[in-house]
Amino acid sequence: MAEIWQSLKNVFSSFSDWKFVVTFLVFVAIFTFGYYCLFAFLKGNGTKGLIITFTITLIASAIVFMLWDVFLTKVFLIVPVIFVFGIVLLYSNEIKRKIKIGESKTDTKSSHKNYDEEEVNNCINAIITALQNMSKKDIGAILVLSNNNISTQILDSGVKLDADISSQLIESVFFPKTPLHDGAMIINGTKITATGCFLPLSQNDSIPKELGTRHRAGIGISETVDVTVLIVSEETGIISIVRGGKITRYADTVMLKNALSRFYWQELIKDR
Ligand code: ATP
Ligand code: MG
Repeated sequence: MAEIWQSLKNVFSSFSDWKFVVTFLVFVAIFTFGYYCLFAFLKGNGTKGLIITFTITLIASAIVFMLWDVFLTKVFLIVPVIFVFGIVLLYSNEIKRKIKIGESKTDTKSSHKNYDEEEVNNCINAIITALQNMSKKDIGAILVLSNNNISTQILDSGVKLDADISSQLIESVFFPKTPLHDGAMIINGTKITATGCFLPLSQNDSIPKELGTRHRAGIGISETVDVTVLIVSEETGIISIVRGGKITRYADTVMLKNALSRFYWQELIKDR
């Protein structure tokens, strides 16, 4: 213990030597970059990468620690520093997002503050316009209004997006014969986050026989996840609203406005 303490003291006293500081920083920069590239490669190659990364880090740390008598004792400082820098660089976006979510949790509470009223009204109007246009043309569609609560398995079954909500985009996605028209669109707050997603079908026997798989999928997801689902029937043009496993058909403008306002102003705000 005393030995380690002495080594640490030696290391920190070396920081008064500017040559050491420069060499140290250059080392850290080079190794961090190397680590970053390695991590990025492993991350892009699936979860197995994390195990490999962990193993490599352990081995590298063990070698450095074993040899710390041979090398300058200061070398051992580099390992954790590089590790931390590499992680921070690689996950900087995720970290930023977490900080943002933390911030909004504290200042939204029960107010509408963090949701710009105009932005939300535009989203509501865009969704209603798209649903009614598709209804007039008998274009089938299914939109899931969610709040970061859709499983990655469902999101991965479709194509991920990060697009602002617009009636044109919604209508283009569901336009028949386009590659993404099949499956559900996932809306997360004021963004379209995925489309072409496969949802679990409801096993409820009491669903009327005239409702097929699109409606069963909408009911199915709403049975297990707290979401609002909006469906346009390709066969009849009827617009339906689904919540908590219950379907309300023949939704008009007022009903859609109520459902969407409830989603944006009550459910989204409450969870933030
Ligand atoms: P519609 O009234 O529009 O005909 P429906 O309830 O009768 O709807 P189907 O005719 O079976 O349902 O609709 C098929 C379409 O529903 C598919 O082309 C697909 O786009 C969508 N769909 C089917 N199953 C799922 C699912 N599990 N998840 C998401 N979308 C689905
Ligand atoms: Mg059908």
